[in-house]
Amino acid sequence: MSGSYNTHSIYSASGAHRWMNCPPSAQLEKQFPNETSTFAEEGTAAHDLAEHKLKKALKMRSKKPTSPYHSDEMDEMTDLYVEYCLELIESSKENCSDLQILIEQKLDFSDYVPEGFGTGDLVVVGNGTLHVVDLKYGRGVIVSAEKNPQMMLYALGALSLFDMLYDIEKVSMAIVQPRVDNFSTWEITVEELLKWAEEELRPKALLASTGGGEFCAGDHCRFCRAKNQCRARAVKNLELLKYEFQDPALLADEEIAEIIGLADELAKWAGDIYTYATALAINEGREWDGFKLVEGRTRRKFTDETAVAETAKEAGYTDIFKQSLITITEMEKLMGKKKFNDILGNLVEKPKGKLTLVHETDKRQAVDPIHAEFQVED
Ligand code: SF4
Repeated sequence: MSGSYNTHSIYSASGAHRWMNCPPSAQLEKQFPNETSTFAEEGTAAHDLAEHKLKKALKMRSKKPTSPYHSDEMDEMTDLYVEYCLELIESSKENCSDLQILIEQKLDFSDYVPEGFGTGDLVVVGNGTLHVVDLKYGRGVIVSAEKNPQMMLYALGALSLFDMLYDIEKVSMAIVQPRVDNFSTWEITVEELLKWAEEELRPKALLASTGGGEFCAGDHCRFCRAKNQCRARAVKNLELLKYEFQDPALLADEEIAEIIGLADELAKWAGDIYTYATALAINEGREWDGFKLVEGRTRRKFTDETAVAETAKEAGYTDIFKQSLITITEMEKLMGKKKFNDILGNLVEKPKGKLTLVHETDKRQAVDPIHAEFQVED
């Protein structure tokens, strides 16, 4: 199972890509709660179902899990994962009399990373090869097995279980991400893996555990719990804005292309900050200098179209249908504002708008989020 779903160590395998690139993030993250998300819960449900199916296919005892996240798609995707695992097991069985198969195995790599452990979805050992398979149910980011530190950590954990019993020469890692049709594999010799562990992993893990090293922003910030308030990320992104413009008055195509690339990174960062600031303003009444909360714009709508049609007809208005009932604006134009209000006023509602943080010069009235009920984005 991917470490992000159930590990508690701050040096989790799933976070390895982040803390190896930015070692002090491990300590910085400690002050932020490890919030779960519907994606994480859905991932856990998929893993539980996949584990059950694989065990059943291998004639092992297992009770079918239940979850509100189960769906036809999850059923189909976990079938693909199980199919992949069974093929791997079958091919590993050839010429191997003592194949070891472990499902949802806790893997301890604390020899290299303090308190480090994760859970391997499937570990297979035989014929001098250690196989580690990880199911990824997410579809947001395509994950490669190549030089993937999470997989390498799982491999180190699995090696420490088996290297006294088996003569293992190479490790084969596989990421199965069926929702985006990604079946990524990568092989490394045990010798190379141990060299990486000593030369790269161990020093970075030491820095991470002591809060040492340099903050370094990049793609890996995406899943960092400190990403909204991180100064290093802000500095790096603001640095992107210092674009060196060339002399001609108009931007060249290459410059536009370069700016689009920068804009994408900046938009992600700005979006994170905006979501964070809006959530604090709505949920805790936090005030940000120069900004206020207002109701989002909404459109009026009829509460009951049949009642509107009858009421308008009773009032002598017959020209009120196009192919369907005319719109509120058209009805108001037809009747005139006052009559519209008198006749249909109680059949019109204006839904509450989504709370939005806007610049203080915006013309709308500021609202108090604590004492009023408003629509809040999911
Ligand atoms: S947001 Fe990025 S730069 Fe900041 S601590 Fe996290 S990983 Fe490091």
